[in-house]
Amino acid sequence: MKQSSDPNQDKRRQRRPFLVSYAIVILIMLLLNTFLFPSLLKSRIQEVDYGTFINMLEQGKLTTVQLEDEQIYFIDNEEKAYQTNVIPQDYAIVQRLDDAGVNFGRVYRKQGVLEYLLVNWILPFLPLILLATWFSRRISRQMGGGGMNAMMFGGKSGAKEYVVDDKTGIRFRDVAGQDEAKESLKEIVEFLHDPKKYEEIGAKMPKGALLVGPPGTGKTLLARAVAGEAEVPFFSIAGSEFVEMFVGMGASKVRDLFRQAGEKAPCIVFIDEIDTIGKKRDSGQGIGGNDEREQTLNQLLTEMDGFDATKGVVILAATNRPETLDPALLRPGRFDRRIPVELPDLKGREAILRLHARKVRLDSECDFNVVARMTPGASGAELANIINEAALGAVRHGRQAVTQPDLQEAVDTILAGAQKKNAILSEKEKCIVAYHEVGHALVAALQTHSAPVQKITIVPRTSGALGFTMQVEEGDRALLSRDELLDKIATFTGGRAAEELVFGSVTTGASNDIEQATKLARAMITRYGMSEDFDMVALETVKGAYLGGDASLACSETTAAAVDARVVELVKTQHAKAYALLEENRRKLDEISQYLYEKETISGQEFMDIMNRKPETDGEENR
Ligand code: ADP
Ligand code: MG
Ligand code: ZN
Repeated sequence: MKQSSDPNQDKRRQRRPFLVSYAIVILIMLLLNTFLFPSLLKSRIQEVDYGTFINMLEQGKLTTVQLEDEQIYFIDNEEKAYQTNVIPQDYAIVQRLDDAGVNFGRVYRKQGVLEYLLVNWILPFLPLILLATWFSRRISRQMGGGGMNAMMFGGKSGAKEYVVDDKTGIRFRDVAGQDEAKESLKEIVEFLHDPKKYEEIGAKMPKGALLVGPPGTGKTLLARAVAGEAEVPFFSIAGSEFVEMFVGMGASKVRDLFRQAGEKAPCIVFIDEIDTIGKKRDSGQGIGGNDEREQTLNQLLTEMDGFDATKGVVILAATNRPETLDPALLRPGRFDRRIPVELPDLKGREAILRLHARKVRLDSECDFNVVARMTPGASGAELANIINEAALGAVRHGRQAVTQPDLQEAVDTILAGAQKKNAILSEKEKCIVAYHEVGHALVAALQTHSAPVQKITIVPRTSGALGFTMQVEEGDRALLSRDELLDKIATFTGGRAAEELVFGSVTTGASNDIEQATKLARAMITRYGMSEDFDMVALETVKGAYLGGDASLACSETTAAAVDARVVELVKTQHAKAYALLEENRRKLDEISQYLYEKETISGQEFMDIMNRKPETDGEENR
């Protein structure tokens, strides 16, 4: 996609003729001064008295004379200019001059009123005016188009216009996965290709479509792909750009944006991060504050209503906080189509990895399926980052191509923070961490509903984790059963349980496990309806589901206390279960922990090999 107005080029193109005209104006001023307005030569006219004039006349020195009502200007044979006041009413002077044979001509031209204004008032201030205009233009350009000009003259909206270029344009093929979203958007592309076809049948296209989903899932990318496919102009503006430093600017920008779009139809208007202007308007706000944003939103609503959808202008918007949007925006006739852009599933992740790996030289043994399975919950942006990180790693290691270990390391870096090379763990600490991690892994492996262990490591990460156990689901899980969730909680408590069992004391290393176990247990009770006491009653509402999801209790205080008690009970039960499991398999725990302690990182395969070595003797000896 080629931008028709690259801002830098734009600046250059605009500034050059401006400087030229500036120079020309100065030149003209200089010329005017010296030639057209000899009045400025006045200082070079010598003032003499009338007697001197008569003397010079009698001596025949005068060549040109100009008679005015109160002054006589004259030039002598040495080309010098003089002036004198006509004090005596010497009526014979004309005759005498004539007799002396001098020329009557123009020596000095008196200023007219206009000339006087020009010379004394306009010319001196011209440079100032020019300078001011120049500045205001510069400022307005820096502010993204609108600025002072927009304020004073109702100028441009600052929306960047993209003109589609077939060779570089982003197409749907550049967006991996997201098949449902692409399907919905294809209809819009169809419409933009041929608005008449729809008009003839009487089908109305939705005026706007809202792309909703977590950050980095490709919303912006999809919007650009729509423009690329439809081959129409693409106006893109971020919601935050509407909220300017000048009051009233936002509304004027919206107005201007839609005017421009109307002229360029069929086209796409894309408002990214619309939640910055589209937040719910609440009356309890009081005076001031968000007035500006509200005005902007109102203007947007007005424009969307006033728009003739058959013209072929489609408004796309993106947000990762759909629940904060003003309901008025989502009303029919506005953003009435909502397109979810979710985190990619296993297949989607693999496709995204492949797509971004196109530009990278790969070793033949690279297996993206493995990488995709290691990265549940990763967004498209994170996956793109993993490929890049792997390529950087390959360069760091002096390799010619990206290998599987590079990809592995990149996954660890992106998901758990980079390996902390110089962290010093004491032998004792390392031992505890090893037992802790194996505790997780063992509890997971000993339960029927747990995902298999992919990797265990006790290499510290910069994120602060001293080690981690990675489990990989076989596929993507849309539904989790109660038993699976319980096993998950038990697995979280497994680390601490191992510490208790082996060392008889506990450490701070389990803080993250505790947090996760609690979260899960609470969700089971308040959101998933998995407890007898509360049945299928929703006790929590979730806000910002795309941004991690903050849950807030929506129940009475007594219920809240009961919920807390149930959560504690649930976690306690699972903790006890994990402890018992480890106690039963103490020998395996020791064996694998010792192995991990030495190797620091072991694969799921190695883990399972040790697990399966002497399955029949295990457990019995410990009983
Ligand atoms: P969002 O607007 O949803 O926050 P972006 O569209 O800005 O996310 O995505 C950021 C980057 O992540 C893109 O430029 C692209 O490189 C990568 N990306 C995200 N999703 C995908 C996808 N489905 N296919 C290919 N690349 C993707
Ligand atoms: Mg975006
Ligand atoms: Zn742990």
